[in-house]
Amino acid sequence: MSSSAYRNGNHRTATRTYGSGFKPPSFKSRLQPSPSHGTGDVRRSSPASLGGAFKDSDGVPGRVRVAVRLRPRNSEEMVADADFADCVELQPEVKRLKLRKNNWDADTYEFDEVLTEYASQKRVYEVVAKPVVESVLDGYNGTVMAYGQTGTGKTFTLGRLGDEDTADRGIMVRAMEDIFADVDLGSDSITVSYLQIYMETIQDLLDPINDNISIVEDPKTGDVSLPGATLVDIRDQQSFLELLRLGEAHRIAANTKLNTESSRSHALLMVHVKRSVAGEDAFSTENGNTSHLVKPSRPLVRKSKLVVVDLAGSERIHKSGSEGHTLEEAKSINLSLSALGKCINALAENSAHVPVRDSKLTRLLKDSFGGTARTSLIVTIGPSPRHRGETSSTILFGQRAMKVENMLKIKEEFDYKSLSRKLEIQLDKLIAENERLQKSFEDEIDTINAESQSRILEVERNFAEALEKEKLKCQMEHMKSVKELEEKMVSNQTRNQRDDLVDVKHISEGIGASVSSEVSELRMLLNNEIAQRKATEDEINLLESQLAQYRHPEADGDTAIFRLQKNLEEEIQQKKKYEEEVLVLRSQLVQMNIEADQTRRCLERGESGDAFTLNMLMAQSRNMQLRENGNGQKPSIAALSEQVGLHKIMSLLESEDATVRIHAVKVVANLAAEEVNQAKIVEAGGLTSLLMLLRRYEDETVRRVAAGAIANLAMNEVNQELIMVQGGIGLLSVTAANAEDPQTLRMVAGAIANLCGNDKLQMKLRTEGGIKALLGTVRCGHPDVLSQVARGIANFAKCESRLASQGIRSGRSLLIEDGALPWIVHNANDESAPIRRHIELALCHLAQHEVNAKDMVSGGALWELVRISRDCTREDIRNLARKTLSSSPTFRAELRRLRVDY
Ligand code: ADP
Ligand code: MG
Repeated sequence: MSSSAYRNGNHRTATRTYGSGFKPPSFKSRLQPSPSHGTGDVRRSSPASLGGAFKDSDGVPGRVRVAVRLRPRNSEEMVADADFADCVELQPEVKRLKLRKNNWDADTYEFDEVLTEYASQKRVYEVVAKPVVESVLDGYNGTVMAYGQTGTGKTFTLGRLGDEDTADRGIMVRAMEDIFADVDLGSDSITVSYLQIYMETIQDLLDPINDNISIVEDPKTGDVSLPGATLVDIRDQQSFLELLRLGEAHRIAANTKLNTESSRSHALLMVHVKRSVAGEDAFSTENGNTSHLVKPSRPLVRKSKLVVVDLAGSERIHKSGSEGHTLEEAKSINLSLSALGKCINALAENSAHVPVRDSKLTRLLKDSFGGTARTSLIVTIGPSPRHRGETSSTILFGQRAMKVENMLKIKEEFDYKSLSRKLEIQLDKLIAENERLQKSFEDEIDTINAESQSRILEVERNFAEALEKEKLKCQMEHMKSVKELEEKMVSNQTRNQRDDLVDVKHISEGIGASVSSEVSELRMLLNNEIAQRKATEDEINLLESQLAQYRHPEADGDTAIFRLQKNLEEEIQQKKKYEEEVLVLRSQLVQMNIEADQTRRCLERGESGDAFTLNMLMAQSRNMQLRENGNGQKPSIAALSEQVGLHKIMSLLESEDATVRIHAVKVVANLAAEEVNQAKIVEAGGLTSLLMLLRRYEDETVRRVAAGAIANLAMNEVNQELIMVQGGIGLLSVTAANAEDPQTLRMVAGAIANLCGNDKLQMKLRTEGGIKALLGTVRCGHPDVLSQVARGIANFAKCESRLASQGIRSGRSLLIEDGALPWIVHNANDESAPIRRHIELALCHLAQHEVNAKDMVSGGALWELVRISRDCTREDIRNLARKTLSSSPTFRAELRRLRVDY
């Protein structure tokens, strides 16, 4: 239709075709770029496109906008056409142009904008180019092109620099001003190339040597580029102006060299704008939720291009008066322009074929017509009626161009570099966040650990307390049952005794009956005892298994558990002791049975005499032993003495009969265990007799029992002196040296230990070899003996210490003199509590006197003192050790030397 209008030249048809039937949006309307792009229903219906590769459904339709600009009459026209009217009449308010055919007829054309000869450069820029520039800044390609006869103002419109009058600044200058005002040179970039096409050769106006640049086409997208063209990075307006001046100078020089005019060549300014924009969130989850972390937005880069084309003059070549060119050359000169005309025609008519490839210009403007760019065309005309034909053809070119519809598409792509940069930053943030979380997680674990640790400790403490309570309960029960047992035995014994004195015959029956009933009662008690033991054992086993359970999650070496174990071990030890006691009780029971039988037999045989009396006494005294802790009524020595006579018993010690002697010494020993009897025994000459027994080297049993009796008598201070006076130490020493039985040694050691506690006897004891004899007894290694030795040493040390502090004694301890120190040190940490306690006490006494300090240091006693000061369970001993350590200069110096912090 447009071609027919063009051919017909009928203004009405033309008006209808281009005006009334077409309601374009305002020329100024600015395309709103949308990252989400357009919808499919605005797709171009025709496949015809100058940019034939355009297949994308995304985009918004954007028709090529066309403005017409009339140049004012120039001075020549003022004169030459003075008598004629202009060939055009403009109606800018209705955007129409009338082209006069003659005085009475004119064709009317409607344009997107009609610019009169008075239109300012600023207004021209704003209506023609500004919307395109804004589109370019939004990421679309844009084209501003001027078409028209030479001398009608194309270059004036596009290329004026405004050096003399700033109001003259053309579209190129103003476009760049707007671009600079909008971009951020920190993240965006602007590069410029300036080219000229002349006779189908592309020349670089920024580098004239570069005079045959080839067009490269991307086979995938069909986009064209000029990799050979100089691309200048522009940072400010001033350098852009310099660049335009340089390009213009080169254009003039090139055209002079080619013997042509600038009106024969097409000039193309290409401004590449590259901008970074933040896109939509690249990491939104499907349901639109975003995590608590700040996510990087999807980085995009927009690479758009503004092309400003100052075309060669549209006049026909033969009319232009270009001399010196052949017809072929003339054809070549105008090839690009005529190809552009053909393409526009084809596009306007929705032709199937658009001959884009016919010329360099049409290839380069592929995107500008029928492509994705926003394009504005300004057609320039002159007023002279002499050029009416050219003016008419220019107008028609503009009219056809108005029919070309582009599909604007944003030139946007992923900015992978910046995305990777952003992701890296994000990753670092996440790593840091992760580290922080990890740390707080570990802290939490620590807290939980600490809490559970303290809970375990608490449980263990409770458990230990429960264990202790249980232990006490067991002990109490045990003591109670022993007491009951004793009470029973005592009452039986008393009854037997009374009956015995009244009627011997009756005794024999009575004792027999009472003994057997006693036996069965004892058995019962024993069974009870055993049952209780069993229950205690079960309890302990249960507690043990509980302890194992508590201990399970904990690491080895836990001190609390260790303590519990110790308690448990002690408990087991205690249990063993009780068991031993049960055994002793049992054997005593057997013994009693035998004795009861003997008694019965004696009575039956009508026997009497010493042996019988002694047997009776033995039984008596043994029963007393059993009661030693009881509170039951005790039969007095007076009763026994009355019955047998103490002197008689003493005299029996010297009996010719060995059996009688043994029984007698046993009776005396048992009697001597009672403090109340001791003085009487001594008075009756018992001590002398006992010492005599030692002197006579009796068999070991006699010596053991005698030594035991002496030991008991030696508890009394008066007796101690008597023993010493009668050469007791010497006798005890000899006994100790010859004895093999640990019990004998125990008795001897016990006797000496008692003597050691007497201040007055210190020197004598030592001189007569008492200390050495005491130390000699340790050879058997029996704990009971060691315990007595430790006690003796502690007693001795205590006396020494007392005498020294009273100023009575000075000089090194006699214990050290007699070589007791190594044994003391060696046994200071003995596992038996009584031994340990005695030795600890002895060490503390020795340490109190500076005179001993040196030997103690060299003998290794210092370490034991330090240990005692820290670990001893008895607070008073601990304090004593601490006091001696801090008061002795020698100890202090040694500890300093060893760098032991004390
Ligand atoms: P073209 O580039 O189309 O050959 P030019 O831009 O060189 O035309 O213009 C030719 C002459 O006309 C120049 O001297 C120019 O200054 C003048 N001219 C063109 N348009 C105007 C205008 N709108 N107002 C004043 N002078 C103009
Ligand atoms: Mg020009």
